Amino acid sequence: MAHPERIVIVGAGHASAQLCESLRKNGHEGSITLVGEETWLPYQRPPLSKAYLLGDFERERLFVKPRTFYDDARIDLRLGIRVEAIDRAARTIRLSDGADVPYDALALLTGARVRPLDCPGAGLSGVHYVRGIDDIDGLMPAVEGAGSAVVVGGGYIGLEAAAVLRKRGLAVTLLHRSPRLLSRVASAETARFIETLHREEGVDIRLGTTISAIEGTGRVERVGIEKTNADHVAADTQEEIPADIVVAGIGVLPNQSLAVAAGLTTEDGIAVDETCRTDDPAVFAAGDVAWHPHGHWGDIRLESVQNALDQAKACAAAMLGDPVPYDATPWFWSDQYDVKMQSAGLPQGYDRAVWREGEKPRSGSCWLYAQDRLICVEAMNDPRAYMTGKRWIEAGVSPDPDAIVNVATPLKSVSAA
Ligand code: NAP
Repeated sequence: MAHPERIVIVGAGHASAQLCESLRKNGHEGSITLVGEETWLPYQRPPLSKAYLLGDFERERLFVKPRTFYDDARIDLRLGIRVEAIDRAARTIRLSDGADVPYDALALLTGARVRPLDCPGAGLSGVHYVRGIDDIDGLMPAVEGAGSAVVVGGGYIGLEAAAVLRKRGLAVTLLHRSPRLLSRVASAETARFIETLHREEGVDIRLGTTISAIEGTGRVERVGIEKTNADHVAADTQEEIPADIVVAGIGVLPNQSLAVAAGLTTEDGIAVDETCRTDDPAVFAAGDVAWHPHGHWGDIRLESVQNALDQAKACAAAMLGDPVPYDATPWFWSDQYDVKMQSAGLPQGYDRAVWREGEKPRSGSCWLYAQDRLICVEAMNDPRAYMTGKRWIEAGVSPDPDAIVNVATPLKSVSAA
């Protein structure tokens, strides 16, 4: 593909701000149009379920870049506008305000949307999600007047929200349909640590349980819960819990309908190669929506800031004709109460997990191996374990698990086999 003159970006998340910056940094002189459905400038999501919900983080600080950045970088911002369709033959996109915008290269950074609750009463006032600024701006006043909450979902969103709600003094019941927390995103060992933490902080955790109905006159008053079986199917109605609000964090779905309608290949996300290119050489995808090949982990879709930023950089390089395969080691973090969790690698396909006690209260690290190869470290209040583990994973180094467990040996003295 010749060097593109007109670049159009669909979606205004973290990846989009990074792509604008990287394109200009890498010398793109042509036009950049950024279309976003929300009226906000691209903003960071991680503080939403943490400090912003707690009321400790000003809205202005959420924005990845100030408006002056977009002006200075000559970005044509079209915010509060939806993309209705992509015409790949004509290389144009159709906007909800009726405009057709031509492109030479198109980036689909459309992210993901929350999976909605589908039980009776899910539409009642007092049911909240944690995804965008508007969600939190709606949730904060509801928390103010509430005494109790049911949180549905024991992933990072549910757990971070539960931690904030406890800090705000609410009685919190957390329902998670699998037999252990963080079932999609962390090891069983780390999930146990996090479960203990939340129980110590007073969260009533119900594992293997889901929501069957939300009831109330006009707004949430109580929640019916039921046990699930191994297939997540409700097996037995259990009880009713009084609640003033329901907060759901039951996962996200990739925003890929535009790509599907345009005939691009999709899986659980828009399929791209290791340079973020789809099966149309003029169309790219990155961030939460991108289904991409990822070294040891195979084809995957990653939902993280690190992935959004690093893939946006890879996307810029590929758009400008200098592709660099994307294979960054995934990393995540989460803040819950006084615990900072940091992980590098992915907790998938491991056959051995070892636990190293930390030096401080509420600290420790879990080290995951697949066929003797270190593939992931999850560190709680232990930045040294996180940084050492990440370095080892990136270098393909796999220390002896027995040496890791021995806290008498400092990590820096553990020989890197
Ligand atoms: P998630 O990681 O998919 O966790 C949602 C959990 O909810 C799943 O483990 C799922 O259980 C459970 N669940 C689904 N339906 C349920 C139901 N009906 N009843 C009870 N439990 C149910 O997603 P999330 O926590 O909502 O997070 C959303 C997004 O925000 C993700 O992209 C996440 O990575 C991102 N995020 C990241 C961070 C971080 O990196 N620190 C923090 C916050 C959010 P099963 O496992 O049984 O399916």
